[in-house]
Amino acid sequence: MTTEHQGTTRRGFLAGAGAAAALSLWPATTAGAAPSGGTRVAVLGGGVSGLSAAHELAERGYAVTVYEYYDVLGGKARSMDVPGTGTGGRKPLPGEHGFRFFPGFYRNLPDTLRRIPFPGNPNGVHDNLRGGTEALFAREAGRPDLHFPLRRLTTPPAPGDITPSWIRDQILSLLDVGTRLPAHEAAYFADRLLVHLTSCDARREDQWEKTSWWEFIRAGRMSQEYRTLLGIGQTRNLVATRAEVASTRTVGRVIIEALLLWGLLGRGMDGDADIDRVLNAPTSEAWIDPWAAHLRSLGVEFVLGTEVREVLHGGGRVTGVRVSARDGSRERTVTADHYVSALPVEHARRTWGAALRAADPQLARCDALQTDWMTGVQFYLRTPTPVVHGHINCLDSPWSVTGIGQAQFWDKRDFAADYGDGRAHDCLSAIVSEWDKPGILYGKKARECTREEIVEECWAQLKDALNDSGKTTLTDADRLGWFMDPAVTGLGGPDPQNREPLLIHPTGTLYNRPSARTGVPNFFLAGDYVRTDVDLATMEGANESARRAVNALLDADNSGAGRCRIWELYRPPELEPLKRVDEVRYRLGLPNTFDLG
Ligand SMILES: Cc1cc2nc3c(=O)[nH]c(=O)nc-3n(C[C@H](O)[C@H](O)[C@H](O)COP(=O)(O)OP(=O)(O)OC[C@H]3O[C@@H](n4cnc5c(N)ncnc54)[C@H](O)[C@@H]3O)c2cc1C
Repeated sequence: MTTEHQGTTRRGFLAGAGAAAALSLWPATTAGAAPSGGTRVAVLGGGVSGLSAAHELAERGYAVTVYEYYDVLGGKARSMDVPGTGTGGRKPLPGEHGFRFFPGFYRNLPDTLRRIPFPGNPNGVHDNLRGGTEALFAREAGRPDLHFPLRRLTTPPAPGDITPSWIRDQILSLLDVGTRLPAHEAAYFADRLLVHLTSCDARREDQWEKTSWWEFIRAGRMSQEYRTLLGIGQTRNLVATRAEVASTRTVGRVIIEALLLWGLLGRGMDGDADIDRVLNAPTSEAWIDPWAAHLRSLGVEFVLGTEVREVLHGGGRVTGVRVSARDGSRERTVTADHYVSALPVEHARRTWGAALRAADPQLARCDALQTDWMTGVQFYLRTPTPVVHGHINCLDSPWSVTGIGQAQFWDKRDFAADYGDGRAHDCLSAIVSEWDKPGILYGKKARECTREEIVEECWAQLKDALNDSGKTTLTDADRLGWFMDPAVTGLGGPDPQNREPLLIHPTGTLYNRPSARTGVPNFFLAGDYVRTDVDLATMEGANESARRAVNALLDADNSGAGRCRIWELYRPPELEPLKRVDEVRYRLGLPNTFDLG
């Protein structure tokens, strides 16, 4: 296995996933044929939102057909086989769009995971989650790395968590940050958090939604350390949105409050969940494939290799959906009683024609929603390389590289025995979230690089972060091969494309997010761009949006079935009185009590 080999197989993989594969998957049923029994629902898109909607509907007796572009389900969450890499009865090496993180504050998605049966697991797929105990904020140029303990403050460290080198790193990194982050800047940040924590909902949805995180924390006037640690590290690296434009409401509510603050205090969590959780095997093995099997057992039909082209509208209702094979052939119209669009926004809006848009103005507002590139690269290593028991955030890397050593969490797998040709013992799964800044090897932006250059840059930036302070964590000799998401095409050419970008959250995004219920009585929206309480483009948002879409459909159908439960983000009762005071101040046009500017 070499990098060239990977590049070659990738091209072969893409070609193989074309028309021929699509045709072979075309169902034997005739165009628009109704699944037997029940009211028919067409779910457009088989990602987390589409599968979540199908699950809720099938459990309530609806006859669901899911139309999906790829030949596999799971959307951005799916894992992918690296073609041609499995020998001797082993599975191919596992690749993915980007590694999967299930924070403990997710409540909706975990509820779905519990309802997907998995052999030997009393709580279904949910029992496949494993807790990470640390996040590593890796620094470059010999600076000590910051190990951030992610066990709740109420949970004692596990045996073996506290080693002499951990203690040394911890002290050094805190001293290092302490000497570079001026005390008055740290104090200012704490004050800003207090402002956000005590702001009423109306102020958050107005003032803070219109203010960028950069401006809110006054990053422009602060030290480089403050900007890297508290600005970029919490935004670009985690959710691909630049701190300079990211909505304060979204970053403050979700990343700072729900994920970190309440997570550390163990408030509003999914049972006794750890803050950081990952699956114990490649995502499709641990979750998506068992999910698809369960949905099939509930009667859900999947029509794969099928592109949704247009949602047709007439007489105030959706009348059908024009679909085709991926190469445009075999166009036909499929019909149902209700339609749930669960396509990502950049694809969904292309399927809404003028008549449909005229029926609901919120569809046109979706044109203002923005996406950006956030793409995974996996490195297959000869030796087990856990790095840290959780995620790695290369804080100083120009391409905002993050990563995780996966084999340590795959406790029911033996990586070398189960995957590839037996030589790889680990997969270091990385994500590049910044595509518009020059790298350190070629001085080019990721968007300007070839696929091979991106991989080398990503590796170099990982090494810069992890091979300093007297350690050598990654060596070239240890690297056996790599895989990069095939959704990105045309790299190194004049017009590279990414079929699967991620919704980002610049200021004002909230106002353009549509509700799951539309102005068309038999048309509903699911997807991570739909307005949800979690308000962040995540698998949790995708799942919550599906619950909202199904509830709207049940209302439209006058269904007597129980509505899907929706969990909203935790609200600390202690802060409610202060928020009420702030509501009065907001209505009077006054700043938050703690807002000293
Ligand atoms: C690199 C990366 C890492 C991420 N990591 C995490 C994480 O750790 N935790 C987390 O919670 N979230 C993470 N996310 C976000 C998360 O993956 C998404 O928010 C979520 O998967 C979106 O689900 P969805 O169903 O809305 O959309 P998608 O997953 O995009 O699914 C939509 C489906 O529709 C299909 N489709 C598109 N167009 C058509 C068409 N015309 N016809 C038919 N089908 C079509 C697609 O093929 C896809 O299967 C990450 C995202 C990225 C990009």
